[in-house]
Amino acid sequence: MDTALRAEALIDLAALRGNLAALRERIRRTGSAEIMSVVKADAYGHGAVPCARAALAAGVRWLGTATPEEALALRAAGIGPEQARVLCWLWTPGSPWRDAVAQDLDIAVSGLWALTHVLDAVRAVGRPARVQLKADTGLGRNGAQPADWPELVAAARAAEAEGLISVTGVWSHFACADEPGHPSIAAQLEVFREALAVAEAAGLRPEVRHIANSPATLTLPESHFDLVRVGLAQYGLSPVPEAGSPADFGLRPVMTLQARIAQVKRVPQGHGVSYGHTYTTPGETTLALVPVGYADGVPRHASSSGPVWLADKWRTVAGRVAMDQFIVDLGGDSAEVGDLAVLFGTGDHGEPTAEDWARAAGTISYEIVTRISARVPRRYV
Ligand code: PLP
Repeated sequence: MDTALRAEALIDLAALRGNLAALRERIRRTGSAEIMSVVKADAYGHGAVPCARAALAAGVRWLGTATPEEALALRAAGIGPEQARVLCWLWTPGSPWRDAVAQDLDIAVSGLWALTHVLDAVRAVGRPARVQLKADTGLGRNGAQPADWPELVAAARAAEAEGLISVTGVWSHFACADEPGHPSIAAQLEVFREALAVAEAAGLRPEVRHIANSPATLTLPESHFDLVRVGLAQYGLSPVPEAGSPADFGLRPVMTLQARIAQVKRVPQGHGVSYGHTYTTPGETTLALVPVGYADGVPRHASSSGPVWLADKWRTVAGRVAMDQFIVDLGGDSAEVGDLAVLFGTGDHGEPTAEDWARAAGTISYEIVTRISARVPRRYV
């Protein structure tokens, strides 16, 4: 890391490509599903455009985002329809429907209201739209309920017959795929198969049927269908830590978060540390200031528990994580201003992982990497 920098998130794009290769190999053992690289939320904090490009270089043909704005940003960066199909699934009435049609996005449609917006946009833009019908098979978020599904399918089929849309996909999303064996998984698969049968009976012939996210991709081959939507696993983190570490699944963490120590000082016993004085030095000691805080995405919930690799040892945050900084107590050890503190990385050199931070903060590794803020520069290697 450049000595001029306060902090950085190192993004190992070779690891990302390797993870996609490992996932593809795993999928091929049981079927022929393709991979959709999910790059929403700035690729879970890793940088949407560089990660999307790395995924395409690794042979991926499908990208997925939550918002249409995220998908359009990929197109604006030069990732054209000939390079990548892009599905986006979080729509509101004010969404850029026309731009989505003009830019040849695959538009997730969860109800008749959305189909109406698509058809208006199709007429305005003067070209047909790609539509992927979403079924709510049990998650209880977006997607059409089973009772409303036949009507949505019929309306889509009619629009397709008129040449206004092409129904390119039928899909859904799991609620509890990260809890292998949870009864809702089998129940959702059954509802999904029924939804597919209804679509087929109505004459729809979608290119892709899909329901699997990372945990289902890793643990549930019967959920793979034609496409798996992979987010967390491609970033080298395990979506089911109880079932296996990243290495167990052949994955390697992509992001390393590190910072340069900003102050080192000796303090006497009984010295209060950081806001609220929730930590008091147990004896005369050396404190090191790590210049990242919750404005950078370091969770305040990891106060007094977050792990840091510094001066060749695993240390723990002393006291509260503040907006821009926190303290570690080096005890009898020493460090210099400018030394590197690694908050999380691959774990290969003894450093903590994003999963360790998730445990310390009472959350999931998804949130740890996704919340690393724009104030932390990304460096791609
Ligand atoms: N599909 C949808 C609809 C999602 O919302 C997400 C992320 O939450 C994913 C796929 C990817 O999930 P994961 O990161 O578990 O692979």
